[in-house]
Amino acid sequence: MEPNDFRNEIMNDFSKLKITIIGLGLIGGSLARAMHDKLGLRGITAVDRDSAALQLALEQGVISNGLSSPDESVCDSDIIFICTPIRQILEYIDELAPRVKSTCIITDVGSTKGIITNHVENLPHRLCFIGGHPMAGTEKSGYANSRPHLFENAYYIITPARGATGDSVKLLSSLVEAIGAIPVVMTPEEHDMAVAGISHLPHVLAAALVNTVKDIDNNTGRLQTLSAGGFRDITRIASSSPGLWENIVMSNREQLLEVLDQLDQKLSDFVGYLKSGSSGDIYNFFDSARQFRETISDYGHGLLPRIHRIIVDVPDRPGIIGEIATLLGCHNINIKNIYVANSREFEQGCLVITLPDMDSVDTAFDLLTENGYIVFRDK
Ligand code: NAP
Repeated sequence: MEPNDFRNEIMNDFSKLKITIIGLGLIGGSLARAMHDKLGLRGITAVDRDSAALQLALEQGVISNGLSSPDESVCDSDIIFICTPIRQILEYIDELAPRVKSTCIITDVGSTKGIITNHVENLPHRLCFIGGHPMAGTEKSGYANSRPHLFENAYYIITPARGATGDSVKLLSSLVEAIGAIPVVMTPEEHDMAVAGISHLPHVLAAALVNTVKDIDNNTGRLQTLSAGGFRDITRIASSSPGLWENIVMSNREQLLEVLDQLDQKLSDFVGYLKSGSSGDIYNFFDSARQFRETISDYGHGLLPRIHRIIVDVPDRPGIIGEIATLLGCHNINIKNIYVANSREFEQGCLVITLPDMDSVDTAFDLLTENGYIVFRDK
């Protein structure tokens, strides 16, 4: 059978694909579980240095073969997903390039694409390489935190390298769509500039904000105590893995420096308005941000994991938190986090409850409202 015939046939039945996942962590594990659960794939091979992750996935029946390094069976795969940090993605590409069968599609899930694509295009071997970046994730890592529905309704960026054929791009796009994601094909350059602005810049800013507050806190702990919801929300991503983020920003330095220059300019402008007491400019600064922010949907599936939360306006009386938690628990709603927002400036209500997904938010909102609570949710 010609490679094109085979690809046309499996477009209707993905269970025939021989898939290998290298790096069975949060993203690799979620891909394996999504393909197992949603597409009926039963022969997935996984490569990981963590034997416990492999063992767990084998016991769950998610993978059928667990290896500590790629062997010949891996080289015979139809698609290899490399799901490690970026430095190791480059190393695995080097290792696999001379060994894989000619029709094998190698793809990755790294958060930057230019550095990886340039690397592939400068190899002596012609590879069918298609970069990938699922815009889904959490602050948590590892196979234990993986879930089959992680990619549902999330954009999945696809950046074909020179050497990737049209039908291989079509196959990967269909596969990604079949696990519930929304494939978007773009160039590595377009991708890297976009993520520099909407993902990497916010991570740098969140860390800078927390470090600034830490410095002005002078070890008194006052600012920690008073930190309101706004500060918590804007800095939540500062809890992400430092190792992963060092790796990500180093692989997108040029683009990140460009957007940081622009931010620097905006901050200098603001300092100027403040020094000269220019109320009109300060108003316009906030107003133009507000107008653009209002065009961004909170229900969209962007690069930053969204928070699913409700805020309940509760009277201050003993047992109220237990009542609400029990009501939600009795209806199988899993609470991820719950806290009392003592600092209520610019906030509604005071009990903030984080839930795992949008369905839980809908159910909890209806349930608590029916039971007489005043509940707020993000628009
Ligand atoms: P993760 O949960 O830590 O998984 C990374 C996997 O790579 C683990 O299996 C890890 O094994 C393995 N690994 C790490 N260092 C390795 C090394 N030196 N040699 C071999 N294997 C190594 O991380 P993740 O969140 O899934 O991220 C994986 C990739 O997805 C990264 O490139 C990241 O940029 C990208 N990504 C992440 C997100 C997100 O929100 N998390 C979203 C989109 C894309 P061990 O368990 O032994 O460390």
